Order: sequence, then structure tokens, then C-alpha cells
Amino acid sequence: MQAIRVERLGPPDVMQLQDVPVPQPGPGEVRIEVEAVGINFADALAVAGEYLTRTRVPYTPGMEFAGRVESLGEGVSGVQPGQRVAALGGSGALARYATVNAAGLIPVPQSLSGAQAAAFPVSYFTAYHGLKTLGHGQAGEWVLVQAAAGALGTASVQLAKALGLNVVALASTEEKLDLARRLGADVTLRQDDPERVQKVRDAAGGKGVPLILEVVGGARFQESLDMAASQGRIIVIGNASREQANLRPVELMKRNLTVTGLWLTSLMGDRQATAEAAQVLGELVASGQVVPQVGPTYPLAQSAQAFQDLLDRKTTGKVIIEP
Ligand code: NDP
Repeated sequence: MQAIRVERLGPPDVMQLQDVPVPQPGPGEVRIEVEAVGINFADALAVAGEYLTRTRVPYTPGMEFAGRVESLGEGVSGVQPGQRVAALGGSGALARYATVNAAGLIPVPQSLSGAQAAAFPVSYFTAYHGLKTLGHGQAGEWVLVQAAAGALGTASVQLAKALGLNVVALASTEEKLDLARRLGADVTLRQDDPERVQKVRDAAGGKGVPLILEVVGGARFQESLDMAASQGRIIVIGNASREQANLRPVELMKRNLTVTGLWLTSLMGDRQATAEAAQVLGELVASGQVVPQVGPTYPLAQSAQAFQDLLDRKTTGKVIIEP
């Protein structure tokens, strides 16, 4: 079968299409015929060797995907061949077939398309944990969503609105802000608006926002501190700028701010938090209150282009690759 392989770390064009053997499901694993792969910023960082964990080469990228269960490894029960599932694994999805531990299967309403199912797990679980599990957002509170037209951003805007929060959305272009508005954002501001700090504070009654989902990092992190209300919670989810941020703890003291890190991979090990997120998200997706946003879609052979477009901020919604 054809698969994307990475033999040395670097920019997206290190990814090559190769012929490789079809993987065999080991004990506890299932093999899935891949319909769609959701591409995350983390996938591009992993190929570059800049992710939170070390990338071992050679490997096939792709951690989030959807498809039909094709065969079951020893000891697997509760899923049927032919059933459409979403899956969250470590890597290996950019291929015709992929294996994943059965624990990484995420039930999705059968009404979702393959691409919608592939756009769901990472962004929506992360948004839920940012808004609720760690962010403790309450209906009627304001939340700031950065990169609001991206995969995580669109999920965060939709989910925040569904949970009754008010949303200030930041993004780099008018087209992206339009999308955030269509998804329900109450106030939208350009990332390069020179008065953005004051405007964000004004949106939330002049006092700043109580909850911020921080995904840009670098110099923007200081701005997040300035945009936060007293006793505000800043959830650090990403560092899309790939720059270091300066954090002076004294500044947190002065305004009683809280900064909390969020990494979905480690939170997935928290069974209670995962079950609670799955229940809320499952209901909202089944009722159509949140709809996974499928972005540009590429064939397997154009995977490098897909990754580059994501890094170049050209995409909205979830970038999808269809093998
Ligand atoms: P997106 O679809 O949001 O794409 C990234 C977006 O980041 C861009 O479209 C761009 O939006 C914005 N951005 C801001 N500054 C830069 C920059 N200097 N270079 C490139 N992009 C920039 O990707 P994801 O939804 O996959 O991820 C969004 C962020 O959330 C990432 O930082 C990612 O690592 C993080 N994340 C973390 C998770 C975790 O478990 N901690 C899980 C999921 C995502 P704009 O042009 O509007 O500024």
C-alpha cells in the first residue's frame, strides 16, 4: 500500500510517498481502512522534530483519522468490521490502512462524514478541556479564542457558544473572522489590530476576559496577560509562533492570574475527564449543535503541501488528507 514516510526530520517536503507493507493489527489493536486523516499543527511540529515528544524516524505521520474497521487483533471486542470510527493514535495514519490500539477508538455519530469524523477528536476534546476541565468556564463568562478560524479555534468558538459563553475571536484575516462570526463569535478582532488589547478588554465590559485559550505564544503571551481580567485563567495550549515567551511570575501575583498548561495526550489518560468530555461532546455533535469544520482536503500525494499550507496560515478548519 502507499504511505507517507519520513526518514529524516525537517520541513514538510521531507515527507515522501512510498510503497510499504499493509500493517498487521497486534493484540488489542484494530486495522482501519483510512477514509480521512485530520492534520494537526502538532503533526507538522513532529515532522520538524519540534514536538513535545521526540520523533523517531523512519515513521508515517498522522495521529487522528477516521475510517472503517477492517480487522480485529487478538482480544478486541465491542467493535464490528465495517463500522465507521474516529481514532486517535500516535502516528501511522497517512496510509491506506492504519492500526491503532482499540483504546484509541472514539465513537462518532454515523451521520458524520469520514472527513467530519477525522476533524473531531483532537480539536473538540482539546477545546472541551480548555473551556471546562481546566478552564472552568461558566455560561455568561467571556472567553478569548486565538486563531479562531483554525481547527482548534473553530471547535472552541462553537463549543463555547454551545456552553453559553461569550466569545471574543482573534484571527489574521477578514475571511477568517467571517468564519468565526458565522460560528457564533460575539466580537471579532484582527490579530494585527493595533488596539487589540484595549478592544478585547472593552469587549468584556472593560475589565478584561476571565478565560483565555492561548495558542500563539511568544510575544503574544504577554498580550494575553494584558487582556486577562483580574483572577483570569490563561490556558496554555499551543505555541504556533514557535517563539519563547517570557513569564514573570510576579505579574501573575499582582492580578491573581492563573496560567495552566494543557496537553491532550496526557489528559486522555484521565478517565473521568475523558468520559465527561465524551458525553458532552457526543450529545452536542449528535444534535448538530456543533459541527466539525472540514477545511481544505488533499490527496495523499500532496501531504507535504497540506502541511506547508497549515504552517503558512493559509487554512481554515481542519486540514484533511484522503488516502
Ligand atoms: P490551526 O488550524 O489553528 O492552524 C494554526 C493557526 O495558528 C494558523 O492558521 C494561524 O491562525 C495561527 N497562528 C498564529 N501565529 C502563527 C504563526 N506564527 N505561524 C503559524 N500559525 C500561526 O492548527 P491546530 O488547530 O492544529 O492547532 C492550533 C494550536 O493549538 C497549535 O498551537 C497547536 O499546537 C495547539 N494544539 C494543542 C493541543 C494540545 O493538546 N495542547 C491540541 C490541539 C492543538 P491566524 O492566521 O488566524 O493567526
